[in-house]
Order: sequence, then C-alpha cells, then structure tokens
Amino acid sequence: MPTPAEALALILDRITPLPPRRLPLAEALGLAASEAIASGEQVPPFTNSAMDGYAVRAADLAEASPESPVRLRVLGDLAAGAMPDRAVAAGTAWRIMTGAPLPEGADSVVPVEDTIRGEGWMEARKPLRSGIHIRLAGEDIQAGLALVAAGQALRPGDLGVLAAVGLAAVPVHPRVRVAVLTTGDELVDASGQPGPGQIRDANIHAICAQVAACGAVPVPFARVPDDRAALASVLREAMQADAILTTGGISVGDYDFMKGMLEELGAERIFWKVAQKPGGPLGFWMLGSTPVFGIPGNPVAAMLMVEEYVRPALRRMMGFAKLHRPLAEAGLEGGWTGKAGDPRTTFLRVVARREGERLQARLTGPQGSAILSSMLHANALAVIPAGTDRVEPGGKVQLHLTELAEDH
Ligand code: AMP
Ligand code: MG
Repeated sequence: MPTPAEALALILDRITPLPPRRLPLAEALGLAASEAIASGEQVPPFTNSAMDGYAVRAADLAEASPESPVRLRVLGDLAAGAMPDRAVAAGTAWRIMTGAPLPEGADSVVPVEDTIRGEGWMEARKPLRSGIHIRLAGEDIQAGLALVAAGQALRPGDLGVLAAVGLAAVPVHPRVRVAVLTTGDELVDASGQPGPGQIRDANIHAICAQVAACGAVPVPFARVPDDRAALASVLREAMQADAILTTGGISVGDYDFMKGMLEELGAERIFWKVAQKPGGPLGFWMLGSTPVFGIPGNPVAAMLMVEEYVRPALRRMMGFAKLHRPLAEAGLEGGWTGKAGDPRTTFLRVVARREGERLQARLTGPQGSAILSSMLHANALAVIPAGTDRVEPGGKVQLHLTELAEDH
C-alpha cells in the first residue's frame, strides 16, 4: 500500500498536460501559459504626455519667475489620440492632454496648474526640469522583454500587459473537463426529501466545487445506483471527459462495484488504497489515456482525497508549474492522540491562525471521516506522520495551507 507521498508520485507520473491551444485573452484568466511569452512591441509605443498641460522646450522657461512670467504662443490643442501637425519651436507650446503624443521639438510638459491661460498664449511662472512629465517610448516595456513564464497562471495584470503589446490570443493549456460521478442507492438530490434509509448527496456539490476551484470544468453526471450495468454504461459515457472522478462504491462492501467494473472495462490499476486516515480506499486507474480517480464515499474522506491527490493532478493536466499548497509548521493546541503503532499517515482538519511570528492550529472538532461539519471551519490540514501516535499540547505539526495558492 503506497504512502500518501508515494501515491501522489504514482499519480503525477501518469499525468501529462493537455495539448496547448491559443485562446483569446477573454478566456485565459487563471490558465497556465504553455510557453514563455516575450513582448514583440514596446510600451508606450510613442513618447507622450504624463500630465494635462503644455508641451514646451524647458529652455524657454529657464528664466520664468512670478515677477517675470514667460509667455509662449499656443499652437493648438492635442487630445489623447490626436497627432500634432507642427513642431514646437522656440517661444511656442502645444496645449496637451495626458497620453497625447509629445510634439517634435518639445522635451517637457508644464502641468496646467502651473500656468495661466490666455487667448492663443500661456504663461509659466517658474522654470521646469527638461524631460519632466513625459513618458518615453518603451520606458515601460521594451520589445523582447520576458512577460510570462511557461506554467505560470495568468492573472488580470498579465492579461492587461499581453493586451497592451498586442498579444490578443495566448498559448495556454485548456481547462480539464472532469466527469464527476456519485454512486449509491441511498442518495437523493440536495433538493429532494430523503425516504427511509436515504441521505442527501453532499459529494456531488462539494466535489464539483473543488474541481471548479482549481480551474477545471466539472461535468456532473446523474447519480449512479449500485448496479453493475448502470455503472458500466455511465463509465463508458464518462470516458469522453479528460478525467473521471467517482465517489463511493470503491471499498469492500457487497455493493462496491466500482473497482471491479473499471477493471472489467480494461482500466489499468496503478494502485488501490493509500496508507492514510481518513479514507484509505482511494484508487487510481488509467482507462486508456483517461485518468480515473476512485474516491471513497464518506464526504470528508472524499474532499480530502480531491484536495491532496486530484487537485495536483488536475493542475498538472492544466500545465501549471506549481502543484502543491504552501507548507507550514504550527503548534497544535490541545495536542492529539491517535492509535498506537498506526502505520498510516493521519490528516487532521484544523483551523490555523497567526499568533505573532508563529502559526497555531486547533482541531475543527471530531475528526471522523463522516463528520462533514469538520470542513466548515477548516483552513488547513495537519499531517501526522505514520508511527506518530501522540502530539503533545503545543507540539509541532506540518500543515498544508489549503486556502492559499500553490507555491511549489
Ligand atoms: P461508500 O464509499 O459507497 O461505501 O460510502 C461510504 C459512506 O459515505 C456511506 O455512509 C455512504 O452513504 C456515504 N456516501 C457515499 N456517497 C455519498 C455522497 N455522494 N454524499 C454523501 N454521503 C455519501
Ligand atoms: Mg456506496
């Protein structure tokens, strides 16, 4: 039985990024660039005014003072988007708006606040430094500047920069489409009224949301009854997706058909069961080129498996360079007592908070794998290594910070 680290390595070994495609910027937010992108242009494309004011030759105003203001003849008005038809010669200026091209001959802009306006003229009452209040062509971005690294998630600012240099479509790895199946005769819809012995299907919502939260597209399937023929037909349909995620029916109960059915359909088993608590019976198969994650039905175990194993795998399929949540060390308030000699890694749901320089974590409450309410407040998982059966109050534990973006 693989350890959690071994299981994740076995999964990631089989996963390759989806082939890249060029997508318009409007569809690229949050996706990973499939190659490094450099600018083919300079920004700004031309030298322009950084202020509303007058484009002048600084030398003309060298002697300006409140007692002897310098008067310049105004050649015309330049709005952003307009072009000057004459150069600024000695003794002249253009009235200019922010973003308008600096006319030839001018080297500076006097802010409008520092001037007096007349009919066809302006006056300045103090000198100004040559080159002030202008934005030089290419001072922001030079052609050839590296903008985005391969595997980097595109953020709003990245998209703005790409737009500014005319890259209207970007090479990215597309979103993974994930078929999400829940199984069990006992399940009814969240909107339904459970009959005797029935419960509501929590997983379809929690897991589709987890899939969406990592940038992939969940494709929820109709709930599958514990019936071999029904399962086979749904699995065949689910193979259309890029990946399959199933919950329930993966253990050793009399109605747990998932494992057998996947293998009857020709899926190659990579592993079944991981040495961890909660939720040992995680299975991973390759059905042709489609990865299949068989996840236990217990809602907490199910979500934990998606967090720890499926999310990194989906991120790799989407080409992200960073697959893993930030790690941190925290003191565990109240400590923890497990089972002596347990050869499994234990994941505890905790609330982590900063106290001065240190992180403190406390358990969310009872840790049973069916205690779904333990997910309400958790913002991290504490990972207790196999063989540890006790953490003293305040003792150090490793955290996976599950609400922060991947950093390695
Ligand atoms: P299973 O893995 O199918 O043996 O299910 C284990 C436990 O999780 C059982 O108590 C199921 O009723 C429960 N369970 C399975 N699937 C779901 C689901 N989609 N939503 C809520 N509970 C579930
Ligand atoms: Mg079941």
